[in-house]
Amino acid sequence: MASDCIFCKIIAREIPAQIIKETEDMVVIKDRAPKAPIHYLIIPKKHSINIADISDEDAFIAGKLLLVARDLSKDLDGSQAFRLISNSGKEVGQSVFHTHFHFLAGKHMSDF
Ligand code: AMP
Repeated sequence: MASDCIFCKIIAREIPAQIIKETEDMVVIKDRAPKAPIHYLIIPKKHSINIADISDEDAFIAGKLLLVARDLSKDLDGSQAFRLISNSGKEVGQSVFHTHFHFLAGKHMSDF
């Protein structure tokens, strides 16, 4: 756990969040500023800064993250379409420096 990391604090239940799902390696929360009707954050429990910071030994957890996204899509009402985004670096919009994926669904998204 990184002492100054907001997502580590959510994982440790030191600050509140709307937790959707939790596994051994991952927590899924609702984004507090949603950009779509469904906007979840899939957050690996092990702290790393972003994708550029993950190590080869994290390959299994990285793969599991996609399976969590798959499972979340199965629980969607209607269309099971979703978008998965991970910002890696301040220049592309990363604001929380603990690896996470945005899971977005529930609206038409054509622009990239
Ligand atoms: P990014 O800007 O890609 O690093 O994404 C960080 C996301 O975390 C943003 O969409 C924020 O709205 C969200 N966020 C930050 N703090 C919290 C929090 N305490 N609970 C839920 N979502 C948060």
